[in-house]
Amino acid sequence: MAADREQLGNKLFEFVEINEEGYAIFDARDHLLYCNRAYARILGFDAEVLIGRTFVDIISLCFNSNKGFKTDTDDLDVLLARLSTQWRSDYYRLFEMQNHENQWFLFSEIKNASGEILIQTKQVTEQKVLEQKLLESRDNLRQLALTDELTQVANRRCFVDSVEAELHRCRRHNYRVAYMILDLDHFKRINDSYGHQAGDMVLQHVAKLVKKLLRNYDIFGRIGGEEFAVFLGRTRVEEVLLIAERIREAIADTPLSYNGDSIRVTTSIGISLCTSVAHTYPDLYNQADQALYQAKANGRNMCQFHQTEHQE
Ligand code: GH3
Ligand code: MG
Ligand code: MG
Repeated sequence: MAADREQLGNKLFEFVEINEEGYAIFDARDHLLYCNRAYARILGFDAEVLIGRTFVDIISLCFNSNKGFKTDTDDLDVLLARLSTQWRSDYYRLFEMQNHENQWFLFSEIKNASGEILIQTKQVTEQKVLEQKLLESRDNLRQLALTDELTQVANRRCFVDSVEAELHRCRRHNYRVAYMILDLDHFKRINDSYGHQAGDMVLQHVAKLVKKLLRNYDIFGRIGGEEFAVFLGRTRVEEVLLIAERIREAIADTPLSYNGDSIRVTTSIGISLCTSVAHTYPDLYNQADQALYQAKANGRNMCQFHQTEHQE
């Protein structure tokens, strides 16, 4: 029985030696007792160089010669401190690592009762590349679903969702919030005079101008054909007026060059400024829309607040 077991052990060892997957054994004091060629190759060294060294020694050797596994730190002490919290932290651990040859490996670390550790690696580069491609295409799809194709700003759905979420947050502090609708003036005339393609370019031009004037925490989107909207959380009347006026002016003062023509466009802006606690998204929209109607009736190219805002 003992002989069989020894024979079997030798057989297993032969297979481990020639295996494409890596095998390594560390003793209870963290010295590398054994590793096969595949394991040494993953780290970028010959097995003879590694065997006998401690775990920390091997990590340092790899780090200093830019071999072995990629890490997000360029400080060896930081890396060793991090690894020391993970290494030997459990009887069985699974984790993924990428080496400097851009190959991915799934590692398993098994600790026995005497404190010896068996490491096994499995190459998972193909699966990992596929997984990354899937994640990328999922992100692209998500981005496509949220972005207006023409102007590359948030589409209506994304804008409304973002405003609802922000409004919810503002309610907790009862911040005053502002909602503006920008509707381009006589836009139909631009299409009629210069063509639909020119109209499209004007929309792109306007979106860029507005985006430049906003801070990255303001919410901006295209909510209709030639209508854009802006939401400002935690704001005051002076600030809203300043931003709205800047937007109106920038659009009026920056014509678009198109085939030798200079296309001028203006915008009317309807603004609702109110407490976040007492108002829902439809309230904000309706108030801004009524104000917009007033701005159009009063001659266009102007900013108009909804009348009730000062009474709140
Ligand atoms: P007002 O000052 O009263 O807003 O006049 P207007 O001409 O802008 O108003 P109206 O809402 O009647 O017309 C909007 C026009 O915007 C009609 C439509 O052809 C045009 N439009 C809507 N979406 C697009 C688009 O994606 N591209 C282009 N080129 N035109 C668009
Ligand atoms: Mg309109
Ligand atoms: Mg219009």
